Amino acid sequence: MKTILEIKNLSKNYSGLKAVDNVSFKIEKGHVYGILGPNGSGKSTTLGMVLNVVNPTSGSYEWFEGTTSNHDALKRIGAIIERPNFYPSMTAVQNLELVCKIKNISKDKIEEKLAVVDLLARKHSPFSTYSLGMKQRLAIASALLNDPEILILDEPTNGLDPQGIRKIRDIIQDIAKSGTTILLASHLLDEVEKVCSHVIVLRQGKTLYCGAVDEMNHNYGVVHLDAANRDDLFEFLKGQPYAVSVKEEMEGFKVVLNQPVDLGKINAAAFAQNISLNKLYIKKQSLEDQFIQLTNHN
Ligand code: ADP
Ligand code: MG
Repeated sequence: MKTILEIKNLSKNYSGLKAVDNVSFKIEKGHVYGILGPNGSGKSTTLGMVLNVVNPTSGSYEWFEGTTSNHDALKRIGAIIERPNFYPSMTAVQNLELVCKIKNISKDKIEEKLAVVDLLARKHSPFSTYSLGMKQRLAIASALLNDPEILILDEPTNGLDPQGIRKIRDIIQDIAKSGTTILLASHLLDEVEKVCSHVIVLRQGKTLYCGAVDEMNHNYGVVHLDAANRDDLFEFLKGQPYAVSVKEEMEGFKVVLNQPVDLGKINAAAFAQNISLNKLYIKKQSLEDQFIQLTNHN
């Protein structure tokens, strides 16, 4: 698999404050990555470092497997890390033409990219008449003009209404489907859950989790069981390798799992020990619960 970006032990200190603390991760081609964390967790600083606008205190990063200098790599990246800023009296097309001129790239893709962000119908309207969502979409079109191999977005839906949020998310998903790798920073768990395949969770600059979103989601959950003879059931559960903890409550036992389990096998194993279960079901923790647990944990 082709690596787009590799970050190795990247840190940024601001007069004693560790804004980013020893962060490492790899971005492989074709996936959608989220940097997820509460405000102030170091997301923008991380993006700033790999985009060459913030100097790392230590650590390193490498674009495109080291085949290009960090400076040349920027030509193959589309990034929006600030609020969209275009000339208010100029139309979308005029603004994008100017971007092409400044970046010294062909104007051929303007229509195509305006279509991607669903702005073709408004392409001749002045930027000043655009809603915030449309402005953000124009910024995305602008970042796509050079057909980048990766699109980087910092809090792409900040300040938008629910419809605007939905629209941006749909567009991001369309861009991802067309094969462009995406890295987005967000403090919104549901955004990352909906849009990203992989996630790096940051808290106070430190990585709390790094991996596939569905594996983070793929918590093993909690099995709820009960039987007429609770003492026997308790003895049975205590000896099971999948049980991290066994807690008795009014409604029965709650067993926190450390691995996937087969409820049929649990039932059969209990039955083999003369325990007939009158309750057996599994409950999974939501990603939100896990995120809150991850970010609250000290
Ligand atoms: P996020 O994007 O996750 O909200 P940031 O990367 O913007 O977080 O900030 C991480 C931490 O670094 C915060 O505590 C922030 O106040 C601090 N910080 C960011 N930029 C600067 C700067 N230029 N000078 C001093 N502190 C900064
Ligand atoms: Mg930020």
